[in-house]
Amino acid sequence: MSTSFADWVSTADAVRSTPKKLEKHAALARYLGTLDDSDLQIAARLFAGAPFPRRDERILSVGWSALSDVLLERSGRNGGEMAESYQRHADLGDVAADLIAERAAAGDRLTLADVAQTFDAIAAARGVAPKRDLLRATIARATAGEARYIVKIVSGETRIGLREGLLEEAIARAFGRDREEVGRANMLTGDIGETALRSKHGTLTEPTLAHFLPIGMMLATPVLQLEEVEKRFPPPYIVEDKYDGIRAQVHKAGDRVELYSRTFDRITNRYPELVEPLLAIPGTFVIDGEVLAFAEGRAVPFTDFQTRLGRKNVAEELRTKMPSTLVAFDILERDGRALLDAPFDERQRILRDLPIVPPVIFAERQRLELSGEELVATLNREFTAARERGNEGLMVKDPRSPYRPGRRGMEWLKVKRPLRTIDVVVTAVEWGHGKRRGVLSDYTFAIRDGERLLNIGKAYSGLTDKEIAEMTKYFLEHTIQDYGRVRTVVPDTVIEVAFDQIQPSDRHESGYAMRFPRIARLRPDKPVGEIDTLETVRQIAGR
Ligand code: AMP
Repeated sequence: MSTSFADWVSTADAVRSTPKKLEKHAALARYLGTLDDSDLQIAARLFAGAPFPRRDERILSVGWSALSDVLLERSGRNGGEMAESYQRHADLGDVAADLIAERAAAGDRLTLADVAQTFDAIAAARGVAPKRDLLRATIARATAGEARYIVKIVSGETRIGLREGLLEEAIARAFGRDREEVGRANMLTGDIGETALRSKHGTLTEPTLAHFLPIGMMLATPVLQLEEVEKRFPPPYIVEDKYDGIRAQVHKAGDRVELYSRTFDRITNRYPELVEPLLAIPGTFVIDGEVLAFAEGRAVPFTDFQTRLGRKNVAEELRTKMPSTLVAFDILERDGRALLDAPFDERQRILRDLPIVPPVIFAERQRLELSGEELVATLNREFTAARERGNEGLMVKDPRSPYRPGRRGMEWLKVKRPLRTIDVVVTAVEWGHGKRRGVLSDYTFAIRDGERLLNIGKAYSGLTDKEIAEMTKYFLEHTIQDYGRVRTVVPDTVIEVAFDQIQPSDRHESGYAMRFPRIARLRPDKPVGEIDTLETVRQIAGR
């Protein structure tokens, strides 16, 4: 027997009424712990604010006018009163509760199963009237409090005071599971209901990778300087081109193939020309890749390719003018075997065994067994080569790493923009905070314009503790003026600063500012007369 929806509602109310996370967890955990399997799944999904699991493609599509018809009928109020209430609440669920107020509900009390069945039926019904009638029958049985949440969910108003992260924590707590494992299962299954069930039964880590149920994609961490790569993990490095297109997860089983976006949307019909070549690959698979177009051997810039994206069904013309290619760079399942925990190296072997033909291709890649300067020099060359192929930059991956769905870790690194540095001179220094307390660690620096020095930025990190200590001593002895926190210093310390971008800005006297400046190294070898000039900065910013 399904439990009453009223219990779910009072739990949701309790969660909403407290700003304290621990109290929210406790209320949820207490409630979830009392439910049988079926109710547990329903309750968890509803707490996530959606009628169906995230991976489920069904939609309710009940329009505003059908919803307001139902509410006016149930509450016996008029359109003016409804508009007035909406002014006050700006949330149709709260309006429903407000209008219905104390009016008694008809028929039997709703159970969780009733609510779930209503959503199933509405999604399956075709046409406005049948959908409205199904909703009307359920709202007739709902109290004001129950109607609030049903309407919130139907209208797609997911603000019921719960983020999925909080729900995951509560589920972990209800069943004494590891918070991380719960998150991972949620990512993998795309269903908080199933995640709750797995938590209850202790089967969180059982492999899942079902066809046509997309999972989260593994993400990369940016590196600003090639020297940083080596600090993240030791050699060997798998270096791939970073393609500037649309990330796609491709599922194939039987005679069906589908492409999914990063947000789990089905995007197959945007790239009809890929379907046949993918179907031609025997067996089942889940491939991770990037969709883009090539012209004369070079990648077409994303902005040009993007003109295809807006439309759901691409006109024949665009398809022939700018046919898309799938660049495959990873494989997550092959012929019934989930490969998420297999090392990247092994996944690569399996991937590259697939008998593919264009427009499906493999990512450009190399394996580098290098370190130190040799590694940096090679990455530098490869970066330029990737840019010449029209690609955005490089991805550097750890061959030992598993596939971590939905995670941004250090096992995939992305090197995007051309790495730029300029040489500048330190003009002022500041006492640091936290573990940099007691040392002069924050530097303001300038570029040169003829004889003048013009400040362009300020940066903290980058130097070693030893270097910072030495520089502190030096700056104390070369202070021009001590303002307390800050001191101006003799401008003779040249440093190299790396950055992401330079843009016009009135923050500094040079008229430019840097995005993400970092001190790359000290340049004692460089005289102040040779630091970069305003002219150089103008050129960099102008590009
Ligand atoms: P970003 O969008 O800048 O965070 O970079 C990560 C994105 O790069 C991924 O989501 C992919 O869409 C894309 N990408 C392009 N080439 C690759 C590749 N070889 N490996 C992984 N991701 C790639």
